[in-house]
Amino acid sequence: MSIQQENRFQAIISHAKEYGFVFQSSEIYDGLSAVYDYGPYGSELKKNIRDYWWKSMTQMQDNIVGIDAAIFMHPTTWKASGHVDNFSDPMIDNKDSQKRYRVDHLIEAHAAKLEDAGKKTEADALLEKMDQLLAKEDFVALKQLIEENKISCAVSSTCNWTDIRQFNLMFSTQLGSVAEDADTIYLRPETAQGIFVNFLNVQKTARMKIPFGIAQTGKAFRNEIVARQFIFRMREFEQMEMQFFCRPGTELEWYEYWKETRMNWHLSLGLPKEKYRFHDHVKLAHYANAAVDIEFEFPIGFKEVEGIHSRTNFDLKSHQEHSGKKLTYFDTEINKHYVPYVVETSIGLDRMFLLILCNAYDEETINKEDGTTDSRVVLRIPAKLAPNKLAILPLLKKDGLPEIAKELLNECRGNFKCYYEEKDTIGKRYRRQDAIGTPFCVTIDHQTKEDQMVTIRYRDSMKQERIPLNKVKEIVMNEVI
Ligand code: ATP
Repeated sequence: MSIQQENRFQAIISHAKEYGFVFQSSEIYDGLSAVYDYGPYGSELKKNIRDYWWKSMTQMQDNIVGIDAAIFMHPTTWKASGHVDNFSDPMIDNKDSQKRYRVDHLIEAHAAKLEDAGKKTEADALLEKMDQLLAKEDFVALKQLIEENKISCAVSSTCNWTDIRQFNLMFSTQLGSVAEDADTIYLRPETAQGIFVNFLNVQKTARMKIPFGIAQTGKAFRNEIVARQFIFRMREFEQMEMQFFCRPGTELEWYEYWKETRMNWHLSLGLPKEKYRFHDHVKLAHYANAAVDIEFEFPIGFKEVEGIHSRTNFDLKSHQEHSGKKLTYFDTEINKHYVPYVVETSIGLDRMFLLILCNAYDEETINKEDGTTDSRVVLRIPAKLAPNKLAILPLLKKDGLPEIAKELLNECRGNFKCYYEEKDTIGKRYRRQDAIGTPFCVTIDHQTKEDQMVTIRYRDSMKQERIPLNKVKEIVMNEVI
């Protein structure tokens, strides 16, 4: 990461805290590593992203329904899903600093440094070699690769490495209050399994016909070893997942369909196309026959925000074997019973939040009419996702202006989130709204009493115009709903 990008990322993190978007968890106790809380504006933004996803993946679809499964699941679920045996990352420890790294992250960080130093070909070759060795799970050769490239620890600066080992990422806890009787259960590391175990319940009760999907949003937990970079990689996070059940043999067509549909979802928010790219997986997970990441160019580089995975019938088949319950579907069109194949779309809500924040953050210089310059920090959050949609600002706290403003507030607040403020100069109030990404401000002044017109100010252009008071609600609704 260049110094400029590093500074930008730090500025975004500080802004997120200063303006009540994201706080370190348990901050008064010095925080808990890689766990974060969302503040007043952050929780609104997060909810709006979740709602936007939910609406487009359920309400706007003919054949997708939602569920809300529990975080705790029967422990055999995780045996069947492969997480007990396979949900681990190759890790390596530096013997001098005792610091533990995910092998792929260590090598990727080195490749990024090479690229920054103008050695792109070398960086690409290193990453290609890493992918090959990861795919073969050849940990001896991977360690050699680290040593040959003199990849050192960021803390000790030495190349004194342990062997590479696998480390399971699931958190476990005990069910029941008496330790001796207790059963070990896991905090789910993904929401998908809650969908698989409910496949038949949903199919039967909602009378779904294949192909159909089940969507879910909810918390997931992973004991990530390298948990840095703010909310990019957290130990407690939220996923928005959809499992699409289809006839065997059609899964790769659906995979292509969902790949395109999901990319279009991102672009539908007005996010810049040039900052997105697909990244095909070289090393496929144990359950997949095709997989791609949707990556976005964060200040920390191109990183995964969403995964599209063709999961075959691995999960349903495995749950069928472990539970002894049939999880087949009778396809009346072809007169056959089969275990459906699955294409999954899985996006991290917190990561999408970070994407929106990074893309929105802008430090702008303003050229004023008198020839001087000014500056502002503005969050260009898509209007549909912005925490507050409309700020209602009476110019003065007297002369009947607050009464008109409050009437407008009451008219609008049932439809979208409004913010009301009387304090400070109008300029300061505009800046505060810019900093939290409010797309529209409306000012009520003395003239309003005469002509029922107000000044609307647009966040992105800072353009102001007079519009009728009774049109405010409609204008805002057109943009934000
Ligand atoms: P990564 O390679 O970044 O660890 P992954 O491939 O393990 O991610 P998936 O298991 O495919 O991720 O999870 C789907 C989505 O969940 C990811 O695209 C990401 O947006 C989100 N996600 C996964 N792990 C985390 C985490 N620790 N913190 C925040 N979001 C996460």
